[in-house]
Amino acid sequence: MDNDCLFCRIVAGEIPATVVHETDTTLAFRDIDPKAPVHVLVIPKEHHADVVTLAQNDPAGSADLLAACAAVAELEGLTGDGYRVIFNVGAFGGQEVFHVHAHVVGGKPLGPMVSR
Ligand code: AMP
Ligand code: ZN
Repeated sequence: MDNDCLFCRIVAGEIPATVVHETDTTLAFRDIDPKAPVHVLVIPKEHHADVVTLAQNDPAGSADLLAACAAVAELEGLTGDGYRVIFNVGAFGGQEVFHVHAHVVGGKPLGPMVSR
């Protein structure tokens, strides 16, 4: 655990979150500032800075994370209409929290992937 990391502290139960799904290796909780009717963050319980680091260092953890995203989409009723899974990476990607997290977003048409 990284004591300075917000999401490690959520995993440790030191900061509250609205948890919607949990496995041995992953945690999913509602984004505090949702950008759509459904906006859930899905994280590995282990600290990795971003999705590249996770993929390089823990392939099994990467697979667990994607499976958890699929489970959240199912639980949240998103699979019929579709949804988006987003990993922001680094400064240009708009990453603000450096503990890898997938945004599972849906519940309305989401429009273009990126504005020009
Ligand atoms: P990113 O810009 O990809 O790093 O996304 C970070 C996300 O974390 C943003 O969508 C924030 O709204 C969200 N966030 C920040 N603090 C919390 C928190 N305490 N609980 C839940 N979500 C949070
Ligand atoms: Zn962390």
